[in-house]
Amino acid sequence: MRGTRVRKAAAICMGAAVAWTAVTGAAGQSAPSKATGHWAIVVHGGAGDIERAKLGPEGDKAYRAALTKVIEAGAAVLNRGGSSLDAVETAVRMLEDNPLFNAARGAVFTADGKTELDAAIMDGATMRAGAVADVSHTRYPITLARTVMEKTPYVLMVGPGADAYSVHAGMEQEPASYYFTESRWQSLVKQLQKEGRPIPPRPAGVPPEGGIVPVAQWQETAGTRRYGTVGVVAVDRKGNVAAGTSTGGLQGKMPGRVGDSPLVGAGTYASNQSCAISGTGVGEYFIRYTVARDVCALVQYKGYTLQQAADAVIQKKLRPIHGDGGVIAVAPDGQMAWSFNTPGMFRARLAEGGKVEVHIYNDEP
Ligand code: ASP
Repeated sequence: MRGTRVRKAAAICMGAAVAWTAVTGAAGQSAPSKATGHWAIVVHGGAGDIERAKLGPEGDKAYRAALTKVIEAGAAVLNRGGSSLDAVETAVRMLEDNPLFNAARGAVFTADGKTELDAAIMDGATMRAGAVADVSHTRYPITLARTVMEKTPYVLMVGPGADAYSVHAGMEQEPASYYFTESRWQSLVKQLQKEGRPIPPRPAGVPPEGGIVPVAQWQETAGTRRYGTVGVVAVDRKGNVAAGTSTGGLQGKMPGRVGDSPLVGAGTYASNQSCAISGTGVGEYFIRYTVARDVCALVQYKGYTLQQAADAVIQKKLRPIHGDGGVIAVAPDGQMAWSFNTPGMFRARLAEGGKVEVHIYNDEP
């Protein structure tokens, strides 16, 4: 196949030597470059029942400050000529470290009180993608996803095998207590009580109940948001787009449930022929309606603008069927868009030479 590199690689996986023939990267798409020579980046921190009254001024300020810092860090990568892929990974890692967001450090809990993380990254220049699902010890799932993309012949790795590969690849590992946030725990307990389901024991190594500082009202509200996935999309000066998404999934999910975030074409997608997308919302809808790919297909085959395409899927298709959530998007020509059908979505965008825009509620631009 033209442009395809077939490479022999060897890897030590879970203590055993495994040899494989990897068909990696550079499958390429001979799309004419739409590069404008300018970069752009869009970030989200989840969509859901995010309202001014519930978040309060303190919460509002905390989220805006966090989103600003993250988008500035991603922009700095692009501004020094870095790739969209590097910008996406850098920004997602910061979100994964921040307990305000439902990704890695601040992930929601499964019904049995555990942490199961999903992430994906995609490179629109080469159509390569890497993803992980149900990992529990990796500090930066987005980096693990990128390593799956770059160092293995696979696209998606799951569960203990993915965690083991992450150890093998030398990535930072964390105990269950690292992912514990009191607000998320209280939120899980409330949900399970309401649904009449059993309450799991607190994870090992966390402060005993009552032995902790009570969480602020806004933190509790933030904890009750069941959708808080993070995502970043970017286009670099060469016109290459990339997308990355990372999540703890849906609060109270059954162990083993995987959402849309790590699934290419559902919650994450990037192609230089159309656009890069990261989604957030009820994953089952995003999977069944292949939301990320659908938005890009409207751009690619129907000539929609990015905003028209995002609205067509999020507002026209998903809203009527209660597929709650939203997407952020960029295109190789620098278009940026977002669309969501929930009361709020934590979001920020910045194009080269412009000003950072940070918005939360649906009455903002
Ligand atoms: N889409 C994610 C999932 O279903 C959740 C979210 O966006 O908050 O796993």
